[in-house]
Amino acid sequence: RTVDEPILQVDDLVKRFGGITAVDGASFQVERGTITGLIGPNGAGKSTTFNCITGVYTPNEGSVVFEGTDITGRDPYQVANQGLVRTFQIARELPEMTVLENMMLAPKNQLGESLWRSVAPIARRDVVEQEEELRERAWEMLEFFEIDHLAGEYAGNLSGGQRKLLEMARALLTDPEMLLLDEPMAGVNPSLEKKLLSHIHELQDQGYTFLLVEHDMDVIMNHCEHVIVMHQGTVLAEGEAAEIKANEEVIEAYLGG
Ligand code: ADP
Ligand code: MG
Repeated sequence: RTVDEPILQVDDLVKRFGGITAVDGASFQVERGTITGLIGPNGAGKSTTFNCITGVYTPNEGSVVFEGTDITGRDPYQVANQGLVRTFQIARELPEMTVLENMMLAPKNQLGESLWRSVAPIARRDVVEQEEELRERAWEMLEFFEIDHLAGEYAGNLSGGQRKLLEMARALLTDPEMLLLDEPMAGVNPSLEKKLLSHIHELQDQGYTFLLVEHDMDVIMNHCEHVIVMHQGTVLAEGEAAEIKANEEVIEAYLGG
């Protein structure tokens, strides 16, 4: 493994749903340590691409290589164990659970109960210790995202923005190398959006890599060093944000709907 090899390499990815080809031969790579934006009109295949990368869907064709390892078709917990995680919406899960309880579930959900136990094989008596360590890390994450005062709150009572912070905090508990964020600013008020973005940059400084789907062009322009544009299941263009913004084909794809 070399430092300058891309952290993620996607080649000729195809995903069909019956007669619909949601992803139609998409290829791109993500450089280590970057915040890379994945944009494109509605229905371009962005979310399906995320799901193929993280093992939620198995692609019909193509390959996904993460840190030099072919992870194509692996289960989500295996992908997470490899160091690649996506955020999952809290809304779909138990809103009657507290913020801290949501955090404590994260590694078990993402890695799978048995795998979570086998990450660091431990003696029975150490199980309690491991829970304690997890709890400590959960608190650290909540503090980092400045939502530790909400630890005892029901997750269902959080604002949209607070929920997004919790989703990120939870994803980070599995200690990944790279995070995939699907519309992390959706439903987030401007002041929390600023906070969320500054947290993302802070994490980038710590060495994390980000791939994010985002509709707000200002966010893309100001925060992503590299932008990939999808249209009709393929990659239409990629490059620096400023180039992309001026690209005629990209403008047309958006206007064309
Ligand atoms: P984006 O995230 O860029 O808006 P999606 O990946 O969600 O695009 O969708 C790409 C295309 O695939 C759309 O036409 C969508 O309707 C279709 N699609 C996505 N998921 C499914 C599914 N589970 N079953 C059938 N069609 C789907
Ligand atoms: Mg989508």
